[in-house]
Amino acid sequence: DEVETSDDIVRGTNDDATVSRLSAVSLGYIQDPFVKLFVKKPTRRSPIINRGTFIRSYAIDSIVSQFLSMPGPKKQIVALGAGFDTRYFNIKAGILNHDGNPLSESLSKYFEIDFSEITMKKAMTVKRRKELWSLMAEADQVKIGRGGMDLLGNDYCLVGGDLRNWPDIASRLLETGLDLELPTLFLSECVFIYITPEESNTILKWITENMKNTMFALYEQVKPDDAFGKMMIRNLKSRNIELKGLQAFPDLMHQEKRFKDLGWENAKAVDMNTIHDRYLNRSEILRMSKLEILDELEEWHLLAAHYCVAWAMHSADFSQEFNAVQ
Ligand code: SAM
Repeated sequence: DEVETSDDIVRGTNDDATVSRLSAVSLGYIQDPFVKLFVKKPTRRSPIINRGTFIRSYAIDSIVSQFLSMPGPKKQIVALGAGFDTRYFNIKAGILNHDGNPLSESLSKYFEIDFSEITMKKAMTVKRRKELWSLMAEADQVKIGRGGMDLLGNDYCLVGGDLRNWPDIASRLLETGLDLELPTLFLSECVFIYITPEESNTILKWITENMKNTMFALYEQVKPDDAFGKMMIRNLKSRNIELKGLQAFPDLMHQEKRFKDLGWENAKAVDMNTIHDRYLNRSEILRMSKLEILDELEEWHLLAAHYCVAWAMHSADFSQEFNAVQ
């Protein structure tokens, strides 16, 4: 019999995220023709979860799209714990764009890191699906590395490994062409929360010390200590999921501080209620409210208060003020 380790359980959260995304896509919240290729058993999620998935996706997409449309040289993106994230393919297909303008021309290379168990499955799907494979630049030259665990393309690299062993990941990123000078956006969407504060700080420190023009965008849970937060933790614990970063970064102030302490600028953290109220435009709110009826407004506000987006930059060159989510 196979024993399910705590790493298996953490990897399992990727299926959860992918199923939730497909649910939001199927109901019309999000446009993404690719996520269905990564889901075996589609499941419809509750209106609250769909709304959460939509606003999270909106927030991170806005950051990605603004980052790529900044003037200057081509840019890199490094998605930490990318799972079955389809953002690269949506950028390349022009589905994720900036006011209708394509973003793919500003993309130098998109790196994705996750456990090898995950990257192997992802690489297999990309290999089997022409609609994915053909989006990679010079697709005929893309190499499959380490027995199927890595994909090494001209503008897309899938790297299998453990983020807790950052020296190994860093050297593999450099081997696959990470440029230390180019503007680079790092993404951690529901990922840092699963590793210890020491482990995530090691990654941030390395970026700070080794790279010139960087931006970071993070999405994860906050507020473990109120009644809703305690319930959230209890529910996850019953599934053996532990949020290791939650106590060290319990609120928006600490999420900003983790960047400021390392000398990053413009560090900002907001919760999902703020994204909804202040950054989502009226027409999107109207469109969303027509998709599903949301009766449990109070529960929605509570949930939204327990998820945050944080962003920061560390650069000598970024001159323009970056407003992140619009
Ligand atoms: N970022 C994706 C998204 O937002 O849809 C996936 C999120 S999923 C909740 C968390 C992901 O982080 C999983 O794919 C998991 O395998 C990955 N992950 C967690 N800890 C990791 C580690 N130590 N090394 C590599 N990947 C890790």
